[in-house]
Amino acid sequence: MAPDPTLEALLVQAGRHHLTSPGAVVPALQPSTTFARDEAHALRGPHLYSRYGSPNDTEVEHLLATAEGAAGALAFASGMAAIACVLEGVPKGGHVFAPSVMYFAARHWIERAAEAGRFHLTLYDNSRTDELADALTGRTADLVWVETPANPAWHVTDIAEAARLAHAAGAILAVDGTCAPPCTTRALSLGADIVMHSATKYLNGHSDVTAGVLAFADPEARARYEPTRRYMGAHLGAFEAWLLVRGLRTLWVRFARQSETALRLANWLEPHPAVEGVSYPGLASHPHHAVAARQMTGGFGGMLSIHVKGGFAAAQALVTGTNTFINATSLGSVESLIEHRRAVEGPASTTQEGLVRLSVGLEPFEVLQADLTQALNRVILG
Ligand code: PLP
Repeated sequence: MAPDPTLEALLVQAGRHHLTSPGAVVPALQPSTTFARDEAHALRGPHLYSRYGSPNDTEVEHLLATAEGAAGALAFASGMAAIACVLEGVPKGGHVFAPSVMYFAARHWIERAAEAGRFHLTLYDNSRTDELADALTGRTADLVWVETPANPAWHVTDIAEAARLAHAAGAILAVDGTCAPPCTTRALSLGADIVMHSATKYLNGHSDVTAGVLAFADPEARARYEPTRRYMGAHLGAFEAWLLVRGLRTLWVRFARQSETALRLANWLEPHPAVEGVSYPGLASHPHHAVAARQMTGGFGGMLSIHVKGGFAAAQALVTGTNTFINATSLGSVESLIEHRRAVEGPASTTQEGLVRLSVGLEPFEVLQADLTQALNRVILG
C-alpha cells in the first residue's frame, strides 16, 4: 500500500467541514448533551442525546472511517471500552483466539470473560508465524484477535494471512492497531473486519485524552455494535473528541518523525555493550521484519524494547536513570517515555525482567541518544 497524500491532507485540515463560524479553520466544540425536537416532535438534526453520539464524536468517527477506508466507525471513552464492545459481540459459548503476548489489560479482560463462561478462549503464540494457522486449522471460531505490533515484544502478525485463516474458520478478524495507525497500516484493506485503536496513544498523540475507536469493514457493523456502546455508556466526551481531532491533524508528521528517530536509536542500541538485544520491527534482525516491511508502509513506529544485561535490577536502574525519557506508562505521544513493564504489570506479568520499553517522541535524536548513553553508563557501572 503506497502512502496516501490525500488522507494526510484530510487529517491536517481535520474538522473543517464542521465549522460553525464562517471562516474558522478549526472545528467548534459542541458540548450539548441533548438536542431539541421541532413542533412535530422530530429531531432537528442527526443527534438525540450525547450517549448515543454527538457532533464532536461524529467528527472523529467520520475522520477515522475515512482514514481506515472503513464503512463506519465508533468512538469510545477508552481503548478498553472499544475492546469490551467487540468482546460483547461474541455469542455466548463462542470461541475466541487471542495472542499470548498482547497489551496486558486487554488479555486480562479477555481471560476474565472466558473464566466467567462467556466464551472459550485459545491463546496462540504470536512470536511464531505459523502458530495461528496451527491453532485454527480444522476449528471453528467466532473472533480472532490480533495485536500488531504487539506490546511489549513487538511481534508482527501478517494481517492478510490472519484474515484468510479467521474467515476460513468462520470468524471475524479484529486487529488492535494502536501501534500501527492508519498512516502506516490500513488493516481493513488487508482483510480485517474490525480495526481497534487506543486513540489515547498515536491518534491523539499528546497524552491529554483517553479514547478508543473501532472502524468496521461491514457497512452493517456500526449499527450492530452501537447499542453496546450506548448501554455501556462508553461514548467519547465532546471535549476529548475535540482534542482528538486536534491531535489527528499532526498524526502523519508525528509518526514519520517518531519512526525515523526510533529506527536510528534501535540501530545504535543493538550493539551497545549494556544491551542484550533490541526488539524493533524496523531492524533486519527482528524475526518478523519482512512482514513488517510489507505491512507498515509509513514507518515502523516509535515503540521499541531494549533487553538490558543484568535483568530486573539493571532495567530498574535504566528507567530511573534517564532525564529526557520520562519514566511513565503509555505510548505514542510527543514526549518520550521509558518504562519497566515487568515492574508495572505486577506479579502476573509474563514480560521478561530485563525488558525496558521506549516510546520515542519528537525530541531530537541526539538528545535522546545522549540521555540513554548516560543512563546506560550508570547501568554498566552498577
Ligand atoms: N491496546 C493497546 C495496544 C494499548 O497499548 C492500550 C493501552 O495502553 C490499550 C489497548 C487500551 O487503551 P486505553 O488505555 O485507551 O483504554
